[in-house]
Amino acid sequence: MKKRLAYRGSIFTFKGTATLDNLPRKKDDLSDHYLYIEDGVLLVEDGLIKKVGDYNELKGEINDIEIIDYKGKIITPGFIDTHIHAAQSGIVAAYGEKLLEWLNNYVFPFESGYKDEEVARKDLNFFLDHLIQNGTTTACAFGPLFYNATDIFFTEIDKRNMRFITGNILMDTNSPEYFMLSTKDNYDNAKKLIEKWHNKNRIHYSLCPRFALSCSEEMLELSGDLKKQYPDIYLQTHLDENLNEIKEVKRIFPWSKHYLDVYDRYNLVTDRSVFGHCIHTTDAELELFKASQAIIAWCPISNNFLGSGLFDFKRTSKFTENITLATDMGGGNTFSMFAVMDDAYKVCMLQSYKLPSMIRWYLATLGSAKALKIADKIGSLEPGKEADFIVIDPQASPILKYRSAQVNDIFELLFILMTLADDRQIKATYILGNCAYEADS
Ligand SMILES: [Zn+2]
Repeated sequence: MKKRLAYRGSIFTFKGTATLDNLPRKKDDLSDHYLYIEDGVLLVEDGLIKKVGDYNELKGEINDIEIIDYKGKIITPGFIDTHIHAAQSGIVAAYGEKLLEWLNNYVFPFESGYKDEEVARKDLNFFLDHLIQNGTTTACAFGPLFYNATDIFFTEIDKRNMRFITGNILMDTNSPEYFMLSTKDNYDNAKKLIEKWHNKNRIHYSLCPRFALSCSEEMLELSGDLKKQYPDIYLQTHLDENLNEIKEVKRIFPWSKHYLDVYDRYNLVTDRSVFGHCIHTTDAELELFKASQAIIAWCPISNNFLGSGLFDFKRTSKFTENITLATDMGGGNTFSMFAVMDDAYKVCMLQSYKLPSMIRWYLATLGSAKALKIADKIGSLEPGKEADFIVIDPQASPILKYRSAQVNDIFELLFILMTLADDRQIKATYILGNCAYEADS
């Protein structure tokens, strides 16, 4: 017997045909690439989306199915966070340092605590619960350094049945003695975790060299070997975040043409590679993004918090469509993708560029799914896709309740949500059709 449920509410989703180029910039632009139904129904069967449509048109078809009533609320795809650190919840909002000092003073001492499995389990569960509570149903996350902690992380992800991209962080040099592993141990751990978890249920393994500075050339070479052995695994790392970091990369890898060239030499720049930040990119690097179809994770909150710089969306998007949005929590001081979309707007305004609402929402949902090559499964509400969706309640805080009473259309509503919403607006989060979180009402 199939498990069928219908959800009634306002539906907002992009369609699979949407791209950065064809999305509407303003409300008068006609577009077939998104769907907004004020009184809509989402029909879910065995965890997959069966139908999306107008309630009045579908009500005859669904009269024998239980209807969960979310009238007045918005049913929309779960957010995708393409760059976040699973082992940094405990140092989020740490005062006063830029990247390299922040890593040494806060991050490394904290992440080393995950050697203790109980600490790791408790913290990683907090991390996953908090993601879900913020409406993020998929993340591309850096895992812990240690094998056991990463294995626990995969286990907890699998229990929640989340579509997730992660792996053990790789560090074998230029880091505190207490917080790195030998090249061989990093490699062996990665290989064992790939064998155990990659493509199991909804899990994708990702190689996670922390950044070029924490990896020896041998480590990068072995990462390239693993990528060759398992071509459909992902890779995620950092790039062009901070000017001192870039100077150090040039000093340690004097042969490199630019920062991205360090990864490229070891065949780590592919269409399944996600590079966090990319603020201070050269044209040559962006040409390589274009040629390789590698993915950029733009982390505006983190870049502001650590004083790293302003991502140039206008320039970068001339080279590549593969731009996604991310929190970079702990460098970013929030789990909320609403806040990320808000800061993306402000970062563009500081560069005299207005980033349209639809584009930001697209970058946080279908745009990320497409860049990550999982848009056949998630990112929009369309028949056949996995039912990862959230329910947003614009009435859930006094200011939004007041402000949303004055909006005229979906464009204005999206804009005020991105500007004013936080985790209180997430009424419910569904993963593969199951309710993973519901706010007290
Ligand atoms: Zn990061």
